[in-house]
Amino acid sequence: MTPLHVLDVAVIGAGVAGLSCANTLAQAGLKVAIFDKARGAGGRMATRRGEHASFDHGAQYFTAHVPAFHAAVAQWQAAGVVTEWKGRIVAWDGTSFADSDGKTRYVAEPGMSGLCRYLMGDLSFFSQHKLIGFERDGEGWRLDFESGETAACRKLVLALPAPQAAQLLEAEPALHAIVAGVTMSPVWAVMVRFAEPLNLDFAGCFVNQGPLSWVARNSSKPGRPAGEAWVLHGSPGWSQVHVSEKEDSVSNALLAAFRNLVGVQAGVEELSAHRWLYAQADNPLNVGCLVDASATLGLAGDWINGSRVEGAWDSGLQVAEKLLAQ
Ligand SMILES: Cc1cc2nc3c(=O)[nH]c(=O)nc-3n(C[C@H](O)[C@H](O)[C@H](O)COP(=O)(O)OP(=O)(O)OC[C@H]3O[C@@H](n4cnc5c(N)ncnc54)[C@H](O)[C@@H]3O)c2cc1C
Repeated sequence: MTPLHVLDVAVIGAGVAGLSCANTLAQAGLKVAIFDKARGAGGRMATRRGEHASFDHGAQYFTAHVPAFHAAVAQWQAAGVVTEWKGRIVAWDGTSFADSDGKTRYVAEPGMSGLCRYLMGDLSFFSQHKLIGFERDGEGWRLDFESGETAACRKLVLALPAPQAAQLLEAEPALHAIVAGVTMSPVWAVMVRFAEPLNLDFAGCFVNQGPLSWVARNSSKPGRPAGEAWVLHGSPGWSQVHVSEKEDSVSNALLAAFRNLVGVQAGVEELSAHRWLYAQADNPLNVGCLVDASATLGLAGDWINGSRVEGAWDSGLQVAEKLLAQ
C-alpha cells in the first residue's frame, strides 16, 4: 500500500457490515478501500475447512425480515451464493426435543464466509491490516496500521465489534462514551467430525439447558462435504466462565455435553475449538448506525442494529447512506 494513499472512504472491518457499507459507497462512485486484521473477509461469518469437512463456526445461518434484505437475499440466491437450509431444527428444553419455529433459514455456499467473499467482489481489500490508531488530519483522517503503514481518507467507517471500536475511539469522546457502554459476551465453538453416522433426526438444535446453546450438523447444509461434521456452541454463560480455558479442555467438555445430549458414543476423527471473544452484544443499541457531528466518522455493526447478520448488513447500508447524504 502506498503511504498516505488518499481515499474517499476507508472501511475498517470486512465482516458483513463493512462489506455492505463499502459496496454501497463504491456503487455511488466513491474511491473506497476496506481493511481487516484477518487474512480473509467474513469476520464472524466464518468457515474453517478441514481435510474432510468444513465447519461454519461463527454465524450458523441467517434470516430475513426487512424488504431490502429480502431483495438482497433473492439476488444472492440468483447468483448461487445463498441457499435455503431446509434441515430440521429442534429445541431441547432439558426433557424432550420439539420442533422449533418454522423460520426460513439461509446459508451461504460453500460456507458462511462465502457470502462475504462474494460481497467483496472487486473492492480494494487490504487483509492483515490491523488499525491501531487514527487522528484527524485536515478535513479527513490519517490511519495507522500495526504494520507501520499509514493511509489517508476523507471519511472513515469502523465496522468492528463495539469493544474493538471503543479501543480506537478514545480521541473521539462523544462516540467513545456511547460505544464503550456496549459490552459483548464470548462464545466457544467446537468443531467435531465423527467417524461414523450418528443417525440423528435433526440438523440443528437449540439447547436451552446445560453448557451448550446450539448444535448443528454442518454437513446437512447445502454445498458442504458429506459426513458427520458438527458445530457445538457453548452457551454465553458457560463460555464466559470458561473464557480463559485451553482449547483442548473446552473441546472435550462440550463434546461430552453433546454426547450426553444425544446419547452417541461414535469415535471422533477431528476435534478443535475457536473462541469468539466478542460473539454477541449484551446490550445492543438498536439505533441502526452511528455517525459523528462532522459526518466524516461512522460506525456500523450488528451491535448497533439487532445483533444478527441481517442487522449488520443493514447497519452497513445505513452508515453508507448517511455519509453519502453529507
Ligand atoms: C458463535 C456465533 C454464532 C452466531 N450465529 C448467528 C446466526 O446463526 N445467525 C445470525 O444472523 N447471526 C449469528 N451470529 C452473529 C453474526 O455473526 C454477526 O451478527 C455478524 O456476522 C456481524 O457482522 P459485523 O460485520 O458487524 O462484524 P464482524 O463479522 O465481527 O466483522 C468485524 C471485522 O473487523 C475486523 N477487525 C476487528 N478489529 C480490527 C482492527 N483493529 N483493524 C482491522 N480489522 C479489525 C475483524 O477481523 C472482523 O473481520 C453469530 C455470531 C457468533 C460469534
